[in-house]
Amino acid sequence: MPAPEISVVIPVYNEEAGLEALFDRLYPALDALGTRYEVLFINDGSRDRSAALLRRRFEARPEVTRVILFAANFGQHLAISAGFEHARGDIVITLDADLQNPPEEIGRLVDKMREGYDYVGTIRRDRQDSLFRRWASRAMNGLRERITRVKMTDQGCMMRAYSRAIVAAINNCQEVSTFIPALGYSFAMRPIEIEIGHAERHAGESKYSLYSLIRLNFDLMTGFSVLPLQMFSLAGIAVSVLSVIFVVYLALRRILVGPEAEGLFSLFGIAFFLIGLTLFGVGLLGEYVGRIYQQVRHRPRYFIEAILEKRTDPPHD
Ligand code: UDP
Ligand code: MG
Repeated sequence: MPAPEISVVIPVYNEEAGLEALFDRLYPALDALGTRYEVLFINDGSRDRSAALLRRRFEARPEVTRVILFAANFGQHLAISAGFEHARGDIVITLDADLQNPPEEIGRLVDKMREGYDYVGTIRRDRQDSLFRRWASRAMNGLRERITRVKMTDQGCMMRAYSRAIVAAINNCQEVSTFIPALGYSFAMRPIEIEIGHAERHAGESKYSLYSLIRLNFDLMTGFSVLPLQMFSLAGIAVSVLSVIFVVYLALRRILVGPEAEGLFSLFGIAFFLIGLTLFGVGLLGEYVGRIYQQVRHRPRYFIEAILEKRTDPPHD
């Protein structure tokens, strides 16, 4: 069987409520493209019936469906990494399982790739998420724009297309904590962005708690910039210079005006501010060190329990 032109990579975590609806829209949309394709589902250690539903889907369309079953929950970006390592298409498209990005738009991404772009990013038109999520995304997009060299309008939109060359480069990275769209962008030579539609989650709830969202954004910031660390060196220098001036001033004042014990609470204020700054700095350092530690242990990034796919190469004898 020749390699497909398009691989669609979909991470799945506790999505039993919406999977059938996804199948019902995804496969017709891909069939309509009239080209060879494969769909790669990665079950990210779901605790619901997702794995069983994916197995059934594999049995229904084995020639275009492949399923990777993780033994535990390793996170969306590692699930996509595993999908990339197994994808065979020239064009690899990532998509969320919750139908927030319409599968019918895949054709537009493919058209752009065929025009010669190697990375098609997307911007969500009329984003259908809570006010808080939209506000937080805007803040994080702005921060990323300033501290990293990754330029994208809407970092949270996962429906994107990557060329075979970029996927190969990503596969070489072996990063434990990563952010695939940014990593892909860093290898892109001809990137472009298009607007696509956005809907509310079809069923179930967001799989990201506030905590995992914060961790994900730390992955993005620490993974693509050391500027936060450098800011602390600069802040340290600024505080030292100010302190020297302050000490000289206090010494002169002591000689010229005499001793004083007023201003105790302003001193507290200043001390608390500096302690806060120091703790934040230590914590930030810890974010980097923790990631370095995870990376240097060289443990497998994820553990695959089983892969459901049709054999394509003839068995050896
Ligand atoms: N997901 C995953 N592992 C996780 C969390 C999420 O594979 O630990 C998948 C999830 O099934 C979905 C996609 O990643 O296909 C995006 O998750 P979600 O829609 O909950 O995120 P949101 O749209 O709220 O940012
Ligand atoms: Mg979603």
